[in-house]
Amino acid sequence: MSVTVRVPAKVNVQLAVGGARADGFHELANVFLAVDIFDEITVSPADELRISCSGQDAAQVPLDRTNLAARAALALAERHGRSADVHIHIAKDIPVAGGMAGGSADGAGALLACEALWNTGSSRPELLDICAELGSDVSFSLVGGAALGTGRGEKLTVLEVGGRFHWVFAMAEGGLSTPAVFREFDRLNDGAHIPEPVASRELLDALAKGDAEALAAKASNDLQPAALSLFPELARTLSAGKAAGALTGLVSGSGPTLAFLARDADDAERIAQTLTASRSCRSVRTAVSPAPGAIRIS
Ligand code: ATP
Repeated sequence: MSVTVRVPAKVNVQLAVGGARADGFHELANVFLAVDIFDEITVSPADELRISCSGQDAAQVPLDRTNLAARAALALAERHGRSADVHIHIAKDIPVAGGMAGGSADGAGALLACEALWNTGSSRPELLDICAELGSDVSFSLVGGAALGTGRGEKLTVLEVGGRFHWVFAMAEGGLSTPAVFREFDRLNDGAHIPEPVASRELLDALAKGDAEALAAKASNDLQPAALSLFPELARTLSAGKAAGALTGLVSGSGPTLAFLARDADDAERIAQTLTASRSCRSVRTAVSPAPGAIRIS
């Protein structure tokens, strides 16, 4: 008996960052959009907790208990007074350390898969509770679609999306650590007044209407200067994508993946080809949003 769950990557169309809180976290207004790049998590009974991973970036994925999928299984097992004797296999397609919430996706996927395997009868709010404990982006990976995340990003309000958006993602050579990007944000903003992070009304309207041009006009990422400061090579790829006709280009989450919004599927294909030819990034792929959240596929 095994259970497989499919989980999407995400892009942030708005990432508004407030000042550091007493606990070191930042208050966020984070507009998440799930994209159709997926990891698949398969769980099956085993003598003890074991993780394996396949896919292009597999070598960068930790196979010990620091893996978010392992932490999710352990958290669920502990709540239900059982042992996490399970083999978790991650078929990885989401870039690792790319700002697309790959680890969070695996956490949400493992949680849903173990819930089904063990039949714990956990309610949705209980699963969301565990997600919030695991990390800021894990709840969104479970929910998918589009959502506004506040607090550390984990308090979610589901958003309406009135159409499909076409993306081109440029993966960089190497990764960026999310905590390092936040530290750079703090350094760059040292002494500056940082306003309360709020979601842009116009941006939410653009999402609700499925209006790519209006979404592009309002898309923003407050972490972008920090990511560019730590990874200056990204500037060339950003310019190349915009010159190729993208409506906008921005760092995805904490980077270093870059997200370019296209008018339609044909445009996305053209931009992807130009970016590939520019040789300014490791790889390029197109994707569509919104995508559903974690879902059992077998
Ligand atoms: P986010 O967008 O949520 O900030 P990210 O996409 O930038 O995250 P991840 O792919 O989640 O980054 O990986 C960040 C780090 O987390 C990795 O370098 C790795 O050490 C660790 N990690 C833990 N579990 C996983 C997992 N299941 N998959 C990938 N990385 C994991």
